Amino acid sequence: MTASQDCPLDIVRSPAELRGRVRAWQAAGQRVALVPTMGALHAGHLALVTKGLDQADVAVASIFVNPKQFGPGEDLERYPRDEAGDAAKLAGAGCSLLYAPDVATMYPPGFASFVRVAGLPDLLCGRVRPGHFDGVATVVAKLLSAAQADVAVFGEKDWQQLAIIRRMAADLDIGTQITGCGIVRDTDGLALSSRNAYLSADERAAALALPQALIAARGAILSGLPVAAALAAGSRRLKGAGFGSIDYFELADGETLHSLGTPATGARLLAAAVIGKTRLIDNIAL
Ligand code: AMP
Repeated sequence: MTASQDCPLDIVRSPAELRGRVRAWQAAGQRVALVPTMGALHAGHLALVTKGLDQADVAVASIFVNPKQFGPGEDLERYPRDEAGDAAKLAGAGCSLLYAPDVATMYPPGFASFVRVAGLPDLLCGRVRPGHFDGVATVVAKLLSAAQADVAVFGEKDWQQLAIIRRMAADLDIGTQITGCGIVRDTDGLALSSRNAYLSADERAAALALPQALIAARGAILSGLPVAAALAAGSRRLKGAGFGSIDYFELADGETLHSLGTPATGARLLAAAVIGKTRLIDNIAL
């Protein structure tokens, strides 16, 4: 489909069309950036497009709500979808093409392969979302393989996901350079997320405790409080604000994601917790 008054952005729906378009740009000497998303786009996603355009001449986004990365009882069915609105936002951000395959194109009958990175997916979010990162690695491998872009941009908001994708791309000799993009936050500090749309006004107000608890834990650790005490205080703060289950509140090595009991270079504070029915994640550098 070419851009029209109805749709401001070219949309392709098959891997062959995607690769054809990317190859044509590359043959003309242009570098191409790929920005994979699940849609319901916000300013955080658009920052990835901007970052892509810093490093390439052309940005291509993908939107695919990947069933393989949702567990039973998760929000696959109700995940927000707005392709027309997303296409307009992408066009406004300078994106040149949208790849939006359907599930049958991505996973046709007989599909039998999956990509599993060992180790990293067992930690943090992987402990409560078994199989999630296998779904992520599989779909990202397919997207990278289909596009063969020069660079692909992923958000640091999903720190563990970025670490896993970097590992996979290095291990599988994927020629696309993987680039991270800093977290885009609302004016009050809450990380933007498509899932913030699920929050009631009260939950949205309480959710702010997540970045605040991370910042407080960083301050406490840097001023000498033992890491375990700072993390426990962070969890308590989330509970006090109304979060239900706290999946983790950890200090970890930014690359290996192994838990740290003492501050170290490259350490990251990461948390995941549920408010109402919505699971939120966030992280900051120590
Ligand atoms: P999603 O659509 O949630 O799968 O996210 C698609 C990409 O956007 C992922 O690489 C995310 O890490 C990234 N992303 C989502 N929210 C943000 C944010 N607030 N800041 C930066 N990147 C983000």
